[in-house]
Amino acid sequence: MAERRRSTVRDLRRDNRSVLLWSLFFSQPCSRQDLSEATGLSSASVSNVIRELISEGIVTEAGSVDSDGGRPRVLLRMNPAYGYVIGVDVGETRVRVEMFDLTMTACARADYPLDPREHGVDVVAERISAGLGSVLADSGADPSDVLGAGVGVPGVVEHGAEVLVHGQTYGWDAIPLERLLRPSTGFPLYIDNGAKTMGQAELWFGAGRGAGHAVVCLVGSGVGASVITGGSPGLGGTSISAEWGHTTIVAGGRPCRCGSRGCLEAYVGAEAILERYGLPLPGDDEESSLAALVDAAATAPRAAEILDETALYLGIGIANLVNLFSPGRIILGGWAGLMLGERLMPAIREATRRHSLAHHFAETSIELGQLGPDAVALGAATLPIERFLNGTAVMRNPSLRADGRAMLARGSPGTPVQLSRSRSASGPARRRRPAGTARARCPTPCRAAG
Ligand SMILES: [Zn+2]
Repeated sequence: MAERRRSTVRDLRRDNRSVLLWSLFFSQPCSRQDLSEATGLSSASVSNVIRELISEGIVTEAGSVDSDGGRPRVLLRMNPAYGYVIGVDVGETRVRVEMFDLTMTACARADYPLDPREHGVDVVAERISAGLGSVLADSGADPSDVLGAGVGVPGVVEHGAEVLVHGQTYGWDAIPLERLLRPSTGFPLYIDNGAKTMGQAELWFGAGRGAGHAVVCLVGSGVGASVITGGSPGLGGTSISAEWGHTTIVAGGRPCRCGSRGCLEAYVGAEAILERYGLPLPGDDEESSLAALVDAAATAPRAAEILDETALYLGIGIANLVNLFSPGRIILGGWAGLMLGERLMPAIREATRRHSLAHHFAETSIELGQLGPDAVALGAATLPIERFLNGTAVMRNPSLRADGRAMLARGSPGTPVQLSRSRSASGPARRRRPAGTARARCPTPCRAAG
């Protein structure tokens, strides 16, 4: 009986701690009083938990603001130096690895090109390992300072006794990616579908903020979607990845990389758009070629025709989402989705309207993603953050400090890493806060202090 009472008290403390961490993460900087008002916890409970979090180095005081006639209020924020998280985007044409501090400010980034015809798991695992080593070296962080790394991959991710990736368009059949990467890392790895991680980034920091239900569409060379229900981060909202790109929109249509025919991806994926155009374009990769096609549409009738068709197919695909989920908000992202949406959004909306039920369409907004084309890596980095805020993360282990760096320097056994890395123009130590991070809408928002 006494043991049960003790565990109940422990559970309550853990829950309070998690509620406060979620609230502070999205509202920082804010005061203890703001946190109390936002979470409904008593001032005493807030003070106790915050004292604990400050003593552990997770939360830090950040100046003060005047309050109406009373004592100045001390502001609190997450301690950026407490630990780091890493996000990995396994895309069609590159592996991007980006490191963030606890306030989601970017600290280091490494990009490795991938040949779109060569997505062997050994090659991808090598580049991920090299990228993890690179961002640690560039940031000066130790593996024991890393709370975890999230990895956004294409395809279906099966979370069973072992995490398995079924990436049919990459030729990946039940790939144990976490097991393959584990020998070269000294921190927890969380693997999930890339469209889902991008959706989580938009939900937390971008166009999905405040949405109860939303579908985030990822259009790059491939096509996927993330379906978000019960919205608010930290309050039990869930998101699932949907293989939207492989839903059929033309019976017996163009062959798709998945082996089927007539899939949405075979019409609106960047690779498919360029194939449908079929004429030479400047640019030595898909991004520059698609940009050239969009530019050419102003003067070249064939290019304009292909883009008009693309808007129609994309609108039909989105209308299917509207009719299936009535999601309230649809967010178009991914590098090709953003490029197409900026030019074609009115035509995409009109095609969606014509192919969806009037009531559902009237209740759905269709918007562009706000986080740019790099949101998959940012979203992947929210996977370890989510565990940390929930209190379910594996905590930092100083014993990893010595051997973790050595393992990363070696790379995976049997897969020596000798790759050049490209860096952003502003250098490896570029610091960037994702738009809206510090002021992201919180499910239980703190009001601006003061
Ligand atoms: Zn397909």
